This record gives sequence, structure tokens and C-alpha cells, in this order.
Amino acid sequence: MARRAGTGAEAAAPPWLEPLLATTFFASCTLHGDAARGECNMFCLDCPSAGAFCFYCRSSAHADHRSIQIRRSSYHDVVRVSEVQRALDVSGVQNYVINSARVVFLNERPQPKGTSSSSSGIGGAAKSAAHLCEICSRTLLDPVRFCSLGCKLEGIKRTGGGATFLLDDDGSGGGGGGGGDGGGVGQEPTTSAPRHRRPPDRRRPADRSQDLAAGHVIAAAKPRRRKGIPRRSPLAS
Ligand SMILES: [Zn+2]
Ligand SMILES: [Zn+2]
Ligand SMILES: [Zn+2]
Repeated sequence: MARRAGTGAEAAAPPWLEPLLATTFFASCTLHGDAARGECNMFCLDCPSAGAFCFYCRSSAHADHRSIQIRRSSYHDVVRVSEVQRALDVSGVQNYVINSARVVFLNERPQPKGTSSSSSGIGGAAKSAAHLCEICSRTLLDPVRFCSLGCKLEGIKRTGGGATFLLDDDGSGGGGGGGGDGGGVGQEPTTSAPRHRRPPDRRRPADRSQDLAAGHVIAAAKPRRRKGIPRRSPLAS
């Protein structure tokens, strides 16, 4: 990060992300192509210029590095959320469950033609109610913004803000709750007492239990909630 060209994307994405998205995986390793695990499905976050490499190359060259394994779903590259979320904020990207693991797609996928955008008649209403990727308009399952890491990156480049790939300072005991629809929202009893405002890192379990005993509500600190996701409880007002 020698220079920062104020595009916003570079400030909001780690330097290995674009190389990752541009890498072709699942070729045979030139060194270990004959071996059982000789296909290049690994990527090193510390050596993004190394491109894709195989299991054996990782053992020899990237043993102590942060490497991730790319997997395939219907010929498209995915990465497990559990592997990448330590280094990347994947909020806002559609998760899929494949082989009982949550994954995100690296890049947008070509879509079958026939998305009749011109038909304003029957069936149009149902389509318009769906959640669409902000970049490629793919229909999404959940109310998120992007279908893939690539579309999120594109979204950051276009808007220059509102989304980020960078994790918060990963302190504050985070990690526990899954990133998706974190609990706690919606069960906010109306209380007349003003909510105490205190630095989040001072909140310890002991404090929380005391507050609960006193009838106060602690909006359980959501470490991953970013400013760009305007999802608020309608009860807020
Ligand atoms: Zn190899
Ligand atoms: Zn490496
Ligand atoms: Zn998309």
C-alpha cells in the first residue's frame, strides 16, 4: 500500500482480492499434476502474485501463509465463508450452502437469457419483488446487495463507498455470531430509560448482565454492522 489512489476501492479492499478474482483455478499443477491432489485450487493471501497452486505447493511454499481453498459449484468458483471471513468482510454478499458449508461466489455468473424485463404484465410483480444484485441483477435469495465478491468489488468501485471488504479491528471478542441476520434485532422492548452510551469495548459480560437485571436493553454489539447497510428496525422511531 505504497500509494493510495483515492478511488475508494483500493482503500476498501485488501490488495489480494483483485488477483484472487482474476485467477483461474483448477488447472493441473505443472509440478504435481500427476498427483492425486495436483489441481491448483489454493490461493495465498500473502502471495497473491503466486496465483493458483496445488496442495503440495502449499505445503512447500506457503505453509505458514494465509491460504484459502477454492471450491467449485456448477463449474463456478466459490470459497467457504469460514475460510475467508477472517481476512475479508463478506457482508452484503449472498451466501449459499453447498455441502453443508456456507460459501460465496468469487465472480458473477452468466445468467440465462429470458429475463423478460419488458413484460409489465403477469408475473412482473413477483420478479420485481425479488432481491437483485446491484451490479449484475442476478436474483438473490436473501436481502443482500451482491451476488458475489466480484460484484461487491464492482459496487465499491462504482459508488466509492457504502460497502467495504475490510474488517473492523477484529478485537471486541467478535466472531461468535454468524454474520448473516444477527440475532437481537427486533426484540427491543420499549423502555423509557435512555439508552446508556458507552464505548463498546468497555462492555464486559458482567456489565451486560447488570444492565439486563436493571431492565435496560443492550443492543448486543454487532461488530460487523457496517454503515452501508441501511437495515433498521421499523420500531426504531
Ligand atoms: Zn503443485
Ligand atoms: Zn504464500
Ligand atoms: Zn452480481
